[in-house]
Amino acid sequence: MSDQDVIDLEKAIDRIRNPDVIECKGIFYRFSSSVYLSSHDSIEVRESYRLLKRKSCPGCLRCQQIHEDIAMAGIENVFVFPKDPKHGDMYEAKFVAASWDGSYVDSWYWELTKVEEG
Ligand SMILES: [Zn+2]
Repeated sequence: MSDQDVIDLEKAIDRIRNPDVIECKGIFYRFSSSVYLSSHDSIEVRESYRLLKRKSCPGCLRCQQIHEDIAMAGIENVFVFPKDPKHGDMYEAKFVAASWDGSYVDSWYWELTKVEEG
């Protein structure tokens, strides 16, 4: 790793720790749910949050952090899901600082919050 790479990495880490300075379009999902009978006569309930690629940020350091968090800690540990999601509603992954170490965010999570659509 070159000196320039180290400087770039430090800048990247600073920006991740202070996500408010980054202009990010956000990451959006569409919730859907369905119920169907399986081939074994089980009743299957399926819920999904589909990533809305065109509406979402094409990728910045902040978004990168979401993907890294999911890969490192698992989606169930980094995302807080809505309690009562409705089929067809749109949700945005919002950064929530859970604790601070001085001026740095020490721990955080991503909360899926409903987006009102006009
Ligand atoms: Zn972004």
